[in-house]
Amino acid sequence: MSGKADPRGTGEGSTPASVTRTRLDRGRGVLGPALELVHTGRAPTRAVLTAELGVTRATAGAVAAELEALGLIRVDARPGAAAGSQGRPSHRLAVAEDGPVALAAQVHADGFRAALVGLGGRIVATAPGCEVVDADPAKVLGSVVEAGADLLRATGRRCVGAGLAVPSAVAEPAGLALNPLHLAWPAGAPVREIFAEQVRAAGIDGPVFTANDVNLAALAEHRHGAGRGARHLLCVATGHRGVGGALVLDGRLHRGSSGLALEVGHLTVNPEGRPCYCGSRGCLDVEADPLAFLTAAGREPGPEVSLLQQADDLIRGHYADPAVRTATEALIDRLGLGLAGLVNILNPDRIILGGLHRTLLGADPDRLRAVVADRSLWGQSGGVPILPCTLDHNSLVGAAELAWQPVLDDPLAVLG
Ligand SMILES: [Zn+2]
Repeated sequence: MSGKADPRGTGEGSTPASVTRTRLDRGRGVLGPALELVHTGRAPTRAVLTAELGVTRATAGAVAAELEALGLIRVDARPGAAAGSQGRPSHRLAVAEDGPVALAAQVHADGFRAALVGLGGRIVATAPGCEVVDADPAKVLGSVVEAGADLLRATGRRCVGAGLAVPSAVAEPAGLALNPLHLAWPAGAPVREIFAEQVRAAGIDGPVFTANDVNLAALAEHRHGAGRGARHLLCVATGHRGVGGALVLDGRLHRGSSGLALEVGHLTVNPEGRPCYCGSRGCLDVEADPLAFLTAAGREPGPEVSLLQQADDLIRGHYADPAVRTATEALIDRLGLGLAGLVNILNPDRIILGGLHRTLLGADPDRLRAVVADRSLWGQSGGVPILPCTLDHNSLVGAAELAWQPVLDDPLAVLG
């Protein structure tokens, strides 16, 4: 292998077309795995790709060239690239900066956000929208798709599909928003179908997906953020309102039999606590979310910015205030109690926290880790790493991951 295979895979130069084609035929089955390795940053060079795939250098070269020809990755053969496995300079691999994108959409308690997300979890463009979420899901989903369509027109990018993150469990296989507790939507609204109608009406092609926002955050963090390399990843996070959880097992979201697994918001962490929207009392959802924090700190929520932003600002800017500190500690203790129960049941190898919970961890990491260790069997025998989520807009990136998945499974079938 010359190490100079033509990047278009047409066989010009030292490698005849028939030879390249044969190598690619052998490599077709690894095109998807190869793309996923570059997508998740685990194959920064062709030498690493070769080793990770367990194929010959020639096959890896043909596979990289094909992915480049599809406009998905960039192969950089300039001298000075990082050393390969045999000490020789290896071609650098990166996702194509001008490649296709997925349309990602998120609806939350205070409005929506649309984004275009490329491979590598890179947000190419984003547009927030603030509005009272109408009781008719078609209204806000129409707004967010319109914002996404504007971004597509402005950038001229090819779109591979669309994904939507919602603050509700999404029942499978029908794609129903089962418990949109903090939106005015009717329980059981067919959000995937409505989203798909809006996407089609906007003239956008490709498959359409919908899932719970914290599930999607966990998926994104596993591929591109604080969850990378974890095999049993537990994610717990607040949105603008409420608390959600997710579990990623060996790289796959654990959804349960009908998409409703890990509804951790309704774990009881304070039996005498406030009534919950679910009919119970003292759930994590109402005891450890932004509104619970503001209430515990004796602050009246204002209308200017989201409750999440107000709670974050209070902890980051006024931690010396005894009322803020006491409220922070109370929420850390409730969160820790919930996490300890989950650790005992799930035995994760890493916990990542998002939304307000990330801020609580940052305010007093030792206290949170101590509560979890104290209350959990496994915590006492070594401690589960508890880390902050690291991606901006991880639910949006996760929504895009769903839309990218068919391409990751078989790039040639979708784009060839
Ligand atoms: Zn509840």
